[in-house]
Amino acid sequence: MQWENTPESSNIEDRRGQGMSAGMGGGGASFGTGGMGVGVIVIVLIISYFTGINPAVLLNGAQIVTGNGGQQQQVATAPQSRPATATDRTTSFLRHVLGETEAVWAEILPAQKSVRYTPTTMVLYTGGTQSGCGGARAAMGPFYCPNDKKVYLDTSFFNEMQAKYGGGGDFAYAYVIAHEVGHHVQDLLGILDRADEAKQNGSRTQANAISVRVELQADCLAGVWAANANKKWNLIDQNDVARAVATAQAIGDDTLQKSARGYAVPDSFTHGSSAMRQKWLMTGLQSGQVDSCNTGVE
Ligand SMILES: [Zn+2]
Repeated sequence: MQWENTPESSNIEDRRGQGMSAGMGGGGASFGTGGMGVGVIVIVLIISYFTGINPAVLLNGAQIVTGNGGQQQQVATAPQSRPATATDRTTSFLRHVLGETEAVWAEILPAQKSVRYTPTTMVLYTGGTQSGCGGARAAMGPFYCPNDKKVYLDTSFFNEMQAKYGGGGDFAYAYVIAHEVGHHVQDLLGILDRADEAKQNGSRTQANAISVRVELQADCLAGVWAANANKKWNLIDQNDVARAVATAQAIGDDTLQKSARGYAVPDSFTHGSSAMRQKWLMTGLQSGQVDSCNTGVE
């Protein structure tokens, strides 16, 4: 992913190295992803079909990411906390990715939905911090808070993604950011409010189903962003897409739940199954259109 020549955002609040550091235990958990899931292979063939890229090239990329049968994963060695003024590669990368979301959404949200884009702020923290939606802890993973319109990101999440789930690579990380910015776009479109209202009026099962549709739509919006960002800066190559898709597979709720308890419980999915996450990311990536993200929440 070529991101060095893209715009940089100034909407980053760096709280790393400030109090509430809960000290991530690390835990040394190893959910070895083993071989490549059938889902990855199917998706790679689909990408290959649409892009004309040799599937062997794509599969190779996906294999690097999902771990080639017990091959040692490179675990990032970044320190757990940094000074608040850090200007390391991660910070620079995040500034660029957020800047890319701002440039793209400022253009396509008015053009496609007649809505002005006001940027979100990304809060970087380590361990824990306060958010407009309550306490943020590293274990929660990245999230968007509609009350203060900010994205919260513990930067050690990326190390964890690489170590635990086999996801990795700049574009896979960018996809995670783009998913959170996707929630902000949903917020600007009034979708989060409407979804909340519908959740309050429904049963727990119905509320879960709505949450899943909101999450899958954020995946699709991440794909819409990627399609348009690629048009502007030509920043994605074929390995990037394979890696992001492998990440979508690795962080699907069914995969996470199976890792945690050995089986999956569809009723309590909040992000959707791996297959659904891949499907909606690809939908947005292929269309570049917000309206293609009709997962059933609008
Ligand atoms: Zn989400």
